[in-house]
Amino acid sequence: MNFFSKRYYSSARLLFASLLLILLLFILLSLLFYHRLQQAQQIVSNVAEQAVPAVLEASQVHDKVKELNLQSELLRDAISQAARARASQQISQIIVQISSLDHQQYVQHQYQQQRLRLIADEARSLDMLIAERLVLQQQSRQWLERLSQLQQQSQQFNTSNTSQPWLLHYSGLLQNVTALYNIDRLYNLRQSGVELEKLLSTNKQLLNQLSQAERQAAAALFEQLHAALLSEQGIFSLREAELSNIARATGKANFLRSLVTDYASETELNAYQSAASLMQLSQQSSIALQRQNQFSFGLALAAILLLLAIMFYTQKRVIKRLKLLNKKVLAGSGFEDDDILFASNDEIADIARSFTEYRKTVAAQQTALERQSLTDGLTGIANRRHFDSQLNSAVAMAKRMQQPLAVLLLDVDHFKAYNDSYGHLAGDDTLKAIAKTLADTLQRQIDLVARYGGEEFACILPNTSPEQAKIMAEQLRLDVLALMLPHHASPTAGFITISLGISCLLPGQDISDKVLLNQADKALYQAKSQGRNCCVMV
Ligand code: GH3
Ligand code: MG
Ligand code: MG
Repeated sequence: MNFFSKRYYSSARLLFASLLLILLLFILLSLLFYHRLQQAQQIVSNVAEQAVPAVLEASQVHDKVKELNLQSELLRDAISQAARARASQQISQIIVQISSLDHQQYVQHQYQQQRLRLIADEARSLDMLIAERLVLQQQSRQWLERLSQLQQQSQQFNTSNTSQPWLLHYSGLLQNVTALYNIDRLYNLRQSGVELEKLLSTNKQLLNQLSQAERQAAAALFEQLHAALLSEQGIFSLREAELSNIARATGKANFLRSLVTDYASETELNAYQSAASLMQLSQQSSIALQRQNQFSFGLALAAILLLLAIMFYTQKRVIKRLKLLNKKVLAGSGFEDDDILFASNDEIADIARSFTEYRKTVAAQQTALERQSLTDGLTGIANRRHFDSQLNSAVAMAKRMQQPLAVLLLDVDHFKAYNDSYGHLAGDDTLKAIAKTLADTLQRQIDLVARYGGEEFACILPNTSPEQAKIMAEQLRLDVLALMLPHHASPTAGFITISLGISCLLPGQDISDKVLLNQADKALYQAKSQGRNCCVMV
């Protein structure tokens, strides 16, 4: 068998490597899934912890900003200290609420908090402006009352039916002063103030026409109007302060509104950016997940295909071959070159080869053992056991074939004496020489010569008539004699001689192998009795 022509590779290693590869594929798959799950978990928690609260807070901030603007307007337009205080307090509370809503995670958190502080500062200064305006308005109202008192006092001079010019002038002045309360521009107020001051200075010519007493009283009235209008805390300066206060409060309120609107926009922008970045992240992750799903599907498919290939390979190249190996080993039959056992030059082929070698060795040992068990150790010819079994089958064969069969029993004459004279080792050599001579003389393949025991030999001569047997026996006797092995202790001859007993089974005779052997033994006994070195047939 040509076992070694193929390249050797190990099935066990191939299987192990494949399983290792599958294991690695599954580990890779598990790691991928774990990583992706963590990413998805991160995104979900980001959406839950950042984006959703940010959007929610932005809408809350938006509501609060509306409230804040409303309260700012209420503060700006407050007509009493109580209303001002209420609006101011509301603003402070709303700012605290917005501050608590501001999202800590934004990068702009510090900046937004600064803005809130600025809003709070602006609201406080607006509050102070409004408080100041309310005081100014209170004082202005007091001056209005004073003007109406002056009006009443001037009415007392209007006794005659004809109106006096100074009085008309005074009434006109009073009206102009009252009109100052309707002016809402600082520039107009100052223009009117300059004109009023001029008008006030023209009263002296008008008063000259009056009596002393009247002149003094009228002058006092003008004096009081002058003081009401132009004194340090007078109507003019109060109105001036009031208008300037209104202008500043309006500016401040507008500034406050823009600050608050900016703050709300910034918060919304932050929320939008946060949501947008998370959206982008989740989109990216979704695309990556999709790609990874395809990759994982490919990996799983590869692993399954690999597994199927391994199963197929194991079935075809391992299990099937192992079964055949087992069957052949159990049957004790050999292996052929084209057996599937040698389809791969691997471990199974190795086992088959080893078994072939083992079988050869066992067969050789068995043959040697069988030969040993049928061969005589000293002479190398067949032993008693071989002779017995051969005789049995030769008798059966002769009876079946209706052929004659001859059996010879041979005994070396005076061999005890030979041993005694020449020694046991020489006796052994002589036995070997006799055996060789007997075997050489019996030329036919079917003849058998065996050592029957001690110094006795036996021959089976199939298809041999009694006459032929006699001739053959005589030939054997002569051939041994012809060896001329000296035997001084023999009373028969000076050489080694043998005596032979012959028995024959004639065609049609029905006698057993034992009887046949017995007859040969008797014949041998007779040969001994007749003087040895002769052949006797019964
Ligand atoms: P006979 O002529 O009557 O046969 O006389 P004999 O001395 O041959 O017969 P006996 O039975 O008295 O002696 C047989 C002898 O053969 C005794 C034994 O020492 C010898 N012998 C038997 N087997 C062997 C053997 O294997 N080797 C040797 N050297 N001698 C053997
Ligand atoms: Mg004997
Ligand atoms: Mg003898």
